[in-house]
Amino acid sequence: MVIVMKDSASETMVDAVSEKLEKYGFKVHKVVGVNRTILGGLGDIRNLDIREFEIMEGVLEVLRITEPYKLASRAFHPDNTIVEIKEASFGSDVVTVCAGPCSVESEEQLYTIAREVKKAGAKVLRGGAFKPRTSPYAFQGLGERGLQLMQQVGEEMKIATVSEIMEIAQLDLMVQYIDIIQVGARNMQNFSLLRELGSVKKPILLKRGLAATIEELLMAAEYIMSGGNYEIILCERGIRTFENYTRNTLDISAIPVTQKRSHLPIIADPSHGTGRRDKVAPMARAAVAAGANGLIIEVHHDPDHALSDGAQSIYPHQFQRLMEELRMIAWAIGKRI
Ligand code: PEP
Ligand code: MN
Repeated sequence: MVIVMKDSASETMVDAVSEKLEKYGFKVHKVVGVNRTILGGLGDIRNLDIREFEIMEGVLEVLRITEPYKLASRAFHPDNTIVEIKEASFGSDVVTVCAGPCSVESEEQLYTIAREVKKAGAKVLRGGAFKPRTSPYAFQGLGERGLQLMQQVGEEMKIATVSEIMEIAQLDLMVQYIDIIQVGARNMQNFSLLRELGSVKKPILLKRGLAATIEELLMAAEYIMSGGNYEIILCERGIRTFENYTRNTLDISAIPVTQKRSHLPIIADPSHGTGRRDKVAPMARAAVAAGANGLIIEVHHDPDHALSDGAQSIYPHQFQRLMEELRMIAWAIGKRI
């Protein structure tokens, strides 16, 4: 249930509604907007007469939210949530691009790629240190050393960083070294991990699971939000379909669908979404045209020798050209990069 307070409602009126909600066993989340305050009550509304709240002083409107996700729902928070970190902003009229290697491989590799992507206009450096690989014999990432390198390069080049967490045990390291914590597709429904991330004071990049519906993605976000962390960036990274010519099927329609249902920003990952270098630029352009709040793209200066995902990593000169094209597309729809 969501209770929208009038512009003129005083703090005492808001507190009275909040206390009444608690009395009925609701967990209360308060969002103080520029103009008005909204109270979200999480609990069982089946036996509740909502008129009891409608008649309270200062109450404008009481909404039953029928979706299973509440805090992630647009009804709860009609304006876009804007997640800001360093020079990056997700959810405003800016299209924010994250770029970098799939995995951090060495100091030299990371510096080389970071310099190129920053120069081309990326606002976040990506780089995995803990890698979820399909084969246990494939490169598993540099671990803590990889995170240290991300922090070092991020600070030196004044660029925010994003890296993937695979398990709760890595949380302290992530918090210490990384600006945005990524939950990968394979962990989207690792509910105990999601719960832990609810109490972290860092933005979370939450990727859609390989076979997850949009509703399941929003429920995963709800897990994190119900713990108190509202800074979530969703990511469409392609889903498993019967199609084999691409690694996954990038579900472009998930972008407008999610934006209608939720206030959270959503970005697209055309690298994992297609799995092929020559398909990355067209799908990146399509995602921005469809209204994505940003992109995350794998870039490598020597993809033939990359330790992971070389086939879908684009060269720095391709990335630079793509950024120029994206600027024009963003401009055409009233946004900027
Ligand atoms: C990645 O970003 O390198 C990654 C493993 O992504 P996903 O979880 O989408 O497969
Ligand atoms: Mn990858």
